[in-house]
Amino acid sequence: MKRKVINSARVPIYRESGFELYDAETTANAFKSESLNEREPDIYIYSRYRNPTVISAEEEIMKLEKCRWSILTQSGMSAIDTAVSLFQNGSQTKPWLFFTEIYGGTISYSEIVLKKRRGLDIQTFSPVNGRYDLTEFEVLMKALKPEFVYIETISNPLLIVVNVPKVAEIAKRYGSRVIVDNTFATPKLFRPLEHGADIVVHSATKYFAGHGNITAGVISGNDKGLMKSAIEYRKSVGHLISPDDAYRLQTQIMSFDLRFSRQCENAARIALMLNRYKTVARVYFPGLVQHETYQEAKEIFGNNGYGAMITFDLAGKDPVEKRKRRDLFIKNVSEKIMLIPTLGDPHTILMPVESVWGAKYPEPGMIRLSVGFEEYNELESTIMTALAKGD
Ligand code: PLP
Repeated sequence: MKRKVINSARVPIYRESGFELYDAETTANAFKSESLNEREPDIYIYSRYRNPTVISAEEEIMKLEKCRWSILTQSGMSAIDTAVSLFQNGSQTKPWLFFTEIYGGTISYSEIVLKKRRGLDIQTFSPVNGRYDLTEFEVLMKALKPEFVYIETISNPLLIVVNVPKVAEIAKRYGSRVIVDNTFATPKLFRPLEHGADIVVHSATKYFAGHGNITAGVISGNDKGLMKSAIEYRKSVGHLISPDDAYRLQTQIMSFDLRFSRQCENAARIALMLNRYKTVARVYFPGLVQHETYQEAKEIFGNNGYGAMITFDLAGKDPVEKRKRRDLFIKNVSEKIMLIPTLGDPHTILMPVESVWGAKYPEPGMIRLSVGFEEYNELESTIMTALAKGD
């Protein structure tokens, strides 16, 4: 017997892989409308194509992004793969330009997949002394005229802020599209689509899901042609998020604003506290005036906050002493602050920078904190006590 609950307050988890199409005519119409309809089909066919629970979660993200389309994928990496693949047209004539301070997984993807396997021309642009020089960027753009420029609003782990509106303005002058990974900033701080970006990607695993229990990604945009093509690519390669994860996401995203506001507040206070501490050699937080991109952060984030990530470097007379202090700190906070290689979780978590990035960031005392939304005083006392023990 079939039962349909028509007064469910939310779109439930539709786990079926295929939907009932009744007869030959309905089937023919469904397939016809599937190829014509860019967003919500009249009738669902197969869950790798589209799924009602997924569409419902996408609508929640579109409210945050204030955009026309958001497309959910299984991971941040599959969102990135979808975004860049939109610009691959058989015989590539223009290079693709990636800023170098981006997520390590994206760098590996560009080298292993884009360069090595797909044989694409990938160019890079690096910051000098902690910030991107946009005059130099313009010189490079003039020479390369790339198909697109790929940037992250806030980088990892040095938290370099990119002046996205200026980058987009320059990119447009040379006919290039702009893809922005806005995972660290989130739409709460800044919405790149309103400032010249063509496509925004997020690892929804992080602040959107916010509880460390989902791996997901999303690509958002306002250009119908591009986003239709994103749906087509996602369907062809099978990048669609599972209905279960989409359901969790649509529920958890309702508290995004509350969670992220609190995380940003906690982070700003912790950064100030660390900045005053004698055994901390340097704090990297874009909300501190000493950060190389404080001006960029102020300009593009306004009063919205500076994100919830902090990197700090423990002092020491040599690398051996620095590592000793770092290891002691990690041990002393481990009851409350776990070493977990992700970010955006409810609780504050940490990563030793040298263990992940090796020689790229050569300060062995560096620790990256993803600040959580726990009660502030307890968090401060955990960190202060651990620092004091390491003196
Ligand atoms: N973009 C950024 C900025 C990230 O930090 C990550 C993962 O840490 C990703 C993309 C990839 O996301 P996922 O792990 O969900 O595939």
